[in-house]
Amino acid sequence: MTRRLAAAMLAAAFAALAAGPSFALSPEAAAGQAGAALNAASLQFSRMVAVQKARRKKKWAFTAPAAPQLPPGTPKKYAAMFKDGWDETMDLLKNKDCQKFFAGHGDSLQTVLRMLSGTEYRFLRLSSPDYGAETNGPGSVFINTDGVFVTAVDGRITLDGRHYDLESLSRLRGMILLHELGHELGFFGPDAGLKLESANAGHSLAIIHTCLPADGMPQDF
Ligand SMILES: [Zn+2]
Repeated sequence: MTRRLAAAMLAAAFAALAAGPSFALSPEAAAGQAGAALNAASLQFSRMVAVQKARRKKKWAFTAPAAPQLPPGTPKKYAAMFKDGWDETMDLLKNKDCQKFFAGHGDSLQTVLRMLSGTEYRFLRLSSPDYGAETNGPGSVFINTDGVFVTAVDGRITLDGRHYDLESLSRLRGMILLHELGHELGFFGPDAGLKLESANAGHSLAIIHTCLPADGMPQDF
């Protein structure tokens, strides 16, 4: 018996005794009452444990939401690239640390997943090939048809002058979608433009270190 259970049982038993009539209570009756209280306390305790277990499970339960529909007319090759990035994003989000990273800013994991599946991802040419993607606001992300999400051939990426190998193009795309998710949820501040290049790299690296921890070491290439 755990100390907590013992304490709960004892407290319940005392409470029952205190509440019961103090007069004319035979020792047998008092013992019976205390026994009933102990049973009730024990039942309550096992319920408490079950609820806690369910809560813990719920916290990490992960049901991948449906992928969002792309705007009508999105070319098939972009749709295939998006699916590749989306599937990887779902995979990366199975990592508890990655879940905590996104759900740790006042949003529940469900809110995070709803944001993702409710986002409109539009493929178009952005002002510079330096941007993989750009977030307009919650629920709207532009993916640059001139940027790495589309043009990269493998998982290699340069961030703030350093090279990283994210192992595969899928992981690189997943990292980009997660980066934009940080903007959509509002905990990544603005990071577009040359002056904010290191902030931009910092956001990507935060995701790499949390969601792709094996890929966080700078490489020579
Ligand atoms: Zn950014």
